[in-house]
Amino acid sequence: MNNEADGMVGGVVEQAGNAESARLRSLRVPVFAIDRLRMGTDGYGVTTLVAFMGCPLKCKYCLNPQCHEPIYAGEGLRKGIMLLTPHELYELVKIDNIYFQATGGGICFGGGEPTMYVEFLEAFRQICGGKWKLTLETCLSCSYRTIARLCHIVDHWIVDVKSMNPDIYTPSLGAHASKRNIQQFLTYFTKLFVEEVDYHIRFLIERGDNVWWLDGERVKFRAETTSKILNLMYEHPDITLASLSEQVGVNVAAINKQIRQLTNKGYIQRAADSNWRLIVTPSV
Ligand code: SF4
Repeated sequence: MNNEADGMVGGVVEQAGNAESARLRSLRVPVFAIDRLRMGTDGYGVTTLVAFMGCPLKCKYCLNPQCHEPIYAGEGLRKGIMLLTPHELYELVKIDNIYFQATGGGICFGGGEPTMYVEFLEAFRQICGGKWKLTLETCLSCSYRTIARLCHIVDHWIVDVKSMNPDIYTPSLGAHASKRNIQQFLTYFTKLFVEEVDYHIRFLIERGDNVWWLDGERVKFRAETTSKILNLMYEHPDITLASLSEQVGVNVAAINKQIRQLTNKGYIQRAADSNWRLIVTPSV
């Protein structure tokens, strides 16, 4: 199966503008292994492991010490190392597209440290589309900003945190890094977790005439008239524009404008029998 037939390949990259598109296409990163048809080791389903060169930690016990070696030998690349653009990598791995899609698998990026190649990963996601799962095997020795960018494109994270004990997490015992290196990750996910919990609590307890919900999203209207219109539609699905205008206290043109906006945003629909159907749900 070829994703190009689905319009996946290059579609978004092309839209990114010529200069940006050319820059993304020319991004080349060093890869020392592409291992196909893996199961049970790198996330869900059938995966292809793509191993990058380089890692800031340089652990003494590194399983892939070759990732720390120089990329070049003399004038050329060292044996076994490929310098690939996102599109070239896609061309190499797409052979297993059908296995990825049938099993919920995809590409696992490891190495080496994949977070060093955030732009490459973003470009690759644009090229492969959303049907493959992307997994990162990472030590998370990267910035908060990098994690925030990757969170939008990575489906699964396999995190090697070494140790949370600073007495163990020292250069003498392994990783040439301090716990500070992964603090960005901890901060990011703690914030994410707190926001998520807070959101669910608000979903359960927040009440108000002006607070509505749509697919688990909170919708709060600035104008009181919007909630009045919605409440009237909720109570009287067959209410007319004239009646809405009279009860809300604004002219029919203004009612019409608000209804158009509510419809465009998917908050309401007009059913076949001309009754109003609310997609948003009230909080009271
Ligand atoms: S974090 Fe992983 S890839 Fe990096 S040096 Fe340590 S063991 Fe090797």
